[in-house]
Amino acid sequence: MKIKELFKNKPVISLEIFPPKPESPINTILDTIAALSDLNPGFISVTYGAGGSSRAHTVNIAGIIKNNYKIEALAHLTCIGSTKDDIDNILKQLRENKIENVLALRGDFPADGNPDCLNQTQYKYAGDLIGHIKEKSDFCIGAACYPEGHIECKNRIEDLKHLKSKADCGADFLITQLFFDNDLFYSFKEKLEISGVDLPVSAGIMPVINKNQIERITNLCGASIPGKFRRILDRYGDNPAALKEAGTAYATEQIIDLLSSGADGIHLYTMNRPETARKIISQISDIRGFFSEQEKCYDSSNIPVYS
Ligand code: FAD
Repeated sequence: MKIKELFKNKPVISLEIFPPKPESPINTILDTIAALSDLNPGFISVTYGAGGSSRAHTVNIAGIIKNNYKIEALAHLTCIGSTKDDIDNILKQLRENKIENVLALRGDFPADGNPDCLNQTQYKYAGDLIGHIKEKSDFCIGAACYPEGHIECKNRIEDLKHLKSKADCGADFLITQLFFDNDLFYSFKEKLEISGVDLPVSAGIMPVINKNQIERITNLCGASIPGKFRRILDRYGDNPAALKEAGTAYATEQIIDLLSSGADGIHLYTMNRPETARKIISQISDIRGFFSEQEKCYDSSNIPVYS
């Protein structure tokens, strides 16, 4: 099923995982997938080469999610450093695995600044990749968006124009970079509306359970840390158990507020930690039930996203 159809019965709760490192076997992720599938997500997305994880495993893992667990899979795909043939080869493999959904991304420049990477890059921006996929195939296409602006783009208006062009090239839905202040998301949504970007937007939420990890990620992506969350990090940063409890509660509170405000979806960056995802999802089970019941009342012919 195409993920854009799921958003018709919003909100969609989705989960993101990353493949094992290239040197690790794919089996090391199977328990994680099994545990996450129990949470009955609308879809599970699989990253592609993010944070040093393997690109080679993405298609296989997405295939396992889709074909073994019968859960919709979203395969991430980046274009930086790839030729047209590389991209077409991955798209072919995705089709062979019955994957219908792709998150089309540019990707980050390699940390070592390898110039070869840019030389062989055929599609410079995600919009170019989206246009290519749309032209060649019937994939449902997601794209990334940034409530605080993309870190490389110093001009927010230009950044929004670039996002609009991703929508015009054929993106079907958006997923945000992680954020810790919901008001940033709400004002971003207003800007999208003003700019004429009329796509479902899933809010990317990351439960923070490790201080070093969050410092590294926010440095990389530029997400800001509001005072309320900074106090949690400062107070419990050196106590893993306390930070885990407070970080999980903070993410849950964000999610409840987003769902109450009518968000189209929540995309949980699970960091391959099913136990944290389970804790959060269990805290919103009655809220999910509430939306399911509403759907049944409004249109009994709709296919529910949640059981
Ligand atoms: P783009 O949309 O191409 O934007 C990149 C920059 O170029 C922006 O500053 C934009 O303003 C600018 N720009 C865009 N179009 C133009 C244009 N026509 N002219 C001039 N400037 C332009 N990375 C991975 O490597 N693997 C993953 O699996 C992965 N998953 C992600 C999932 C999500 C939900 C998100 C939010 C990010 C993910 N990333 C992943 C990180 C992503 O690759 C980086 O944020 C990357 O720097 C930008 O990717 P993009 O697709 O948003 O790029």
